[in-house]
Formats: sequence, structure tokens, C-alpha cells
Amino acid sequence: MRITRVQSHVLQYDLPEELGYSQQYYARRTAHLVEVSTDEGITGWGECFGPGPIAVANKGIVEGVIQPMVIGLDPLHRDAIWHKVYNLMRDHGQKGMPMQALSGVDIALWDIAGQIMGQPIHALVGGAHRDSVPAYGYGMMLKRESVADHVARFQDEAAAILDMGFTATKMKTGLGPEADVKLCAAVARGVEGKGRFMVDANHCYTTSDAFYVGRALDEMGAYWFEEPVAPEDLDGYRELRSGLKVNISGGEAEFGRWGWRQILENRGLDIAQPEVCALGGITEYQRVLALCHAHFTPVINHVWGSAIAVTTNLHLLAAMPPLPGGLHPWEPMLEFDTTHNSFRDELLTEPLDIQGQVARKQGRVAIPQKPGLGVVPDPEVIARFKVA
Ligand code: CA
Repeated sequence: MRITRVQSHVLQYDLPEELGYSQQYYARRTAHLVEVSTDEGITGWGECFGPGPIAVANKGIVEGVIQPMVIGLDPLHRDAIWHKVYNLMRDHGQKGMPMQALSGVDIALWDIAGQIMGQPIHALVGGAHRDSVPAYGYGMMLKRESVADHVARFQDEAAAILDMGFTATKMKTGLGPEADVKLCAAVARGVEGKGRFMVDANHCYTTSDAFYVGRALDEMGAYWFEEPVAPEDLDGYRELRSGLKVNISGGEAEFGRWGWRQILENRGLDIAQPEVCALGGITEYQRVLALCHAHFTPVINHVWGSAIAVTTNLHLLAAMPPLPGGLHPWEPMLEFDTTHNSFRDELLTEPLDIQGQVARKQGRVAIPQKPGLGVVPDPEVIARFKVA
């Protein structure tokens, strides 16, 4: 079997309302799907992390740079293909957009391998440790409104997400340290007696501001404090982890095994959050997961994007070994975006219906069991939303 074509589909639509996090407001939702075709009629699907114009630029890397390197190769040779592409791109980007582009191609190769072997991806990886995973729902995005309006909305939204059945919920911060502590207190009130909450700063603080917010989170019992400082600030992560009670999490902006080695050896993370659609695909994710577990650092995957990204992560969460194991082991969770996302709800011919599953199964989501990813995007939906 040979690879005959590698195609990108950048999908986009205007959100019903603008959403924000600590770095920017955004009014459109984008998804970047990768379709790998073969000479035997089997097609694989993958996804690249990266919004808006980043997705359009990554399409140029997928089709213009990676495609000529892999045409004619056997799609089963995933690791050989990974290293050929990485080695040829190394001088032009060991991190960032080239790795995001490679990720989508690699995931599509795993989808093809599963279809050839008649096995779901979690079986190819080594077998499922669980047939369902708990999901946490994130929401509570920033808007162009007053602090008081944020406080009222965040308290209601946190309660509403847990009432949907999610096992925990995650909020954004980014209005400034003093206002952010008020938002966190509102969410703590909203979840009281119902479940846990987490806080995502998207690296907006200095170390001292992160300590100010983090000490408040220690008192409120937040489960984790995500990306408190810039991903490059390894010293800041280490100081925060040793000085705060709340778990420090991060890693979604890190890429292959070499960057991850530095993060882990620095001892600045309680919880690692690798992004499979950015760090180099499933092939590299497995090496990063092994590194995390070699440092006894638990992993909760970062998940963002369409139903293809969600499905990819469900397979990986199923195949994640327990750390360290036991009768009642620590369990990973599926990160789930509760904001408006047509690429999650409308893309597949058979929708995952995560929200329905969460409501019916005490916050848990079943692992797909069909060969490969086990899901197929609807060509009509792709045609309707495609912008590049
Ligand atoms: Ca995040």
C-alpha cells in the first residue's frame, strides 16, 4: 500500500458570540483536518492544532512541504515516516507550526493502520486500560463585560456545567490578578457541594502575580492551576510548584520529546497536558507519555478542536497505563469544551454525543471501538464549512 495524496481541509464559521481567554478575543471557530489517501482506497483522518490564519499557514506545510516527502511511502511505516519528515524539517522548526502540521498527518496514518488491521487505535497502541473515561467540562470564557458581570456569569456557568453531569469544570482567568481572584471565588461558590474546579491562565502572569492568585486557589481548594506563567519560564514553574499547594499543570505549548524532557527534568509540573494534535501526533505522544511516566508525572491530555481531535484523545486516554496502579487508581479525564462548536457536534456521520453520554453515564464517555479512529467526517459538512 502506498500514500497517494495528503490534503488539508480548513473549516471555519462565525461563532454566535465572541469568546475570550487571557491572550485575545475570538469571533470564529476553525478546525484543520488532514486527509491521507492511499492506492488501495483506504483514507485516514487527522487534525492539526492551530486556529484561524495559523491553520491556513499549516495547510501550506501539510500539502506543500510534508506531502512531497511522503507520497509513495507505505502508510504503515509510521515511525519511519515521522523521522523522515522531522529530520528534513528540523533546520526550519523543531517546535511550533511544522510540528502541528506533522501531527495531523501522523494521526491520519494511525487511522489508516487501524483500518488495515481491523483494530481501534487504542488496541494498536497496546490495549485499553478502561472502556470509558470521566469528562470535565470547560467554559467560563472571558467577554467584554465588567468584572461584576463576569463574577455573576462564572458562578452560574460553573454550577450549570456540573449539573450537566461533568465530573469537574475549568474556568479562564486573565482580567488581572485581583479581579481574577474574584472570578475564582465565584466559581468555587458555583461548584460547592457538586464537584471540583480548575483554573486556566493561558500564561498571563508574572511569577509574583501567579503566587498571588495561586495562594488564593490554595485556600479555595482548586484542583489545578494551568499555565500560570509563560511556557518558556521553567524557573517560574518550578518555584510555583514548590511554593503552592494547588497542582501546577501545563505543557500544551510544548512539542516533541526534547522539549518535554526539559520540562519534566525541571520538576515544575504536577500534571502534564500534552496536545497530540500539536506535539507530533500519536507516534510522538507515546514517547512523551513514556517520559512523563518515567518522571511519575500524571498526564491529562490537552484537548481542543473538532470531533477528530476528541476521538483521537479518547483512544489515547483508554490506552494510558495507570500511574502507579492500584485498586482505585488515579484516572485521567477527557477535557471537553462546552462552548459552541459545530465541528464537534455536526462533523461526524455518527456523532459522539459526548454531552448526552455525560448526562446518562455519571460524567463518563465511552471509548470508540471501530477500526482506526472509528469515526468518519461527513463530506457535506466539510464542503459547507471549508474556507481553505
Ligand atoms: Ca489551557
